[in-house]
Parts: sequence; structure tokens; C-alpha cells
Amino acid sequence: MQSRSLGSKREKAERLLRKHNLKVTVPRLSVLSVISEKETATSQPDLEKVLGKSVDRVTLYRVLNVFEEKGILHKIFDLHGTATYALCSEECPEHIHSEDHVHFTCSKCNSVYCLNEVTIPTIETPIGFRVDAVGINAVGICAQCQSKVN
Ligand SMILES: [Zn+2]
Ligand SMILES: [Zn+2]
Ligand SMILES: [Zn+2]
Repeated sequence: MQSRSLGSKREKAERLLRKHNLKVTVPRLSVLSVISEKETATSQPDLEKVLGKSVDRVTLYRVLNVFEEKGILHKIFDLHGTATYALCSEECPEHIHSEDHVHFTCSKCNSVYCLNEVTIPTIETPIGFRVDAVGINAVGICAQCQSKVN
């Protein structure tokens, strides 16, 4: 996927925005492109660093809020309590995020990974309870850091 042309990546981002009835704007496209390029979830300070002056802080804040509300991005807190953002799966409903994957936070590099291949089992609840979202957070050492040790 890395060698894909910029064109198709942009098209994909535009399609995602239209699907959620959002206007295609440069800041929205920029945020999507940064987040979709990274293997790990991206924090707001990191986004600010990468985007530089092209997207100001207030705009970035708004873009992230809209994306979260629309079910495009979901928020995960890292070990320092900083919010990081990752793309939602295609089926994520608006307002209720039901990510069915495990979040892994590395205690060494503080990266947050969406482990999409690890699915969360169905949770049995007592009668009268309705589950809308389940989250599992795992903490440990990521593959990147493990390989540095050896
Ligand atoms: Zn979501
Ligand atoms: Zn790590
Ligand atoms: Zn996730």
C-alpha cells in the first residue's frame, strides 16, 4: 500500500469525507493523510508538528472533533493521558464508537497501536444491560522496541 500514488490516497480520503456528508477541505484532507499514513495512533501534538503552519491549532481541534463525532476517527489515551487518534473501521457508527479491536500501548515508546487483527470477545451482561462499546487496552512492549533490545 505504501507505493500507492498520492492520487488514489487523496481520492480515498475524499470519499470518506463525502460518505459522512463532510465538505472536502484541505485541513481535513491533511489530517486524514497524516493519520492514515502512520501505523500507530497520532496525538494532537504530533499532528501539530507534522502539519506545521498549514493547519492552525483551532482548525485542527475542530477537524478532530468532527471526525470523532462522525465516526471517522476514534480517540485513545496513551499512558500519559494524551489523546491519540486512529482511523475507525468502516462500520463504526456515528457517535457511538464500537471499535472491536484491542488497543496496545507500549510502555517504552508510548506508541498506541490499533490491533485490528485481535478481536474483542462478546461480553455477556446481566439482563437489562445493553452493551454499546467494549474496549480492551493492553500495555506492554511493542514489536519495534522489542527488536531494538535484541
Ligand atoms: Zn470509531
Ligand atoms: Zn514501543
Ligand atoms: Zn483503535
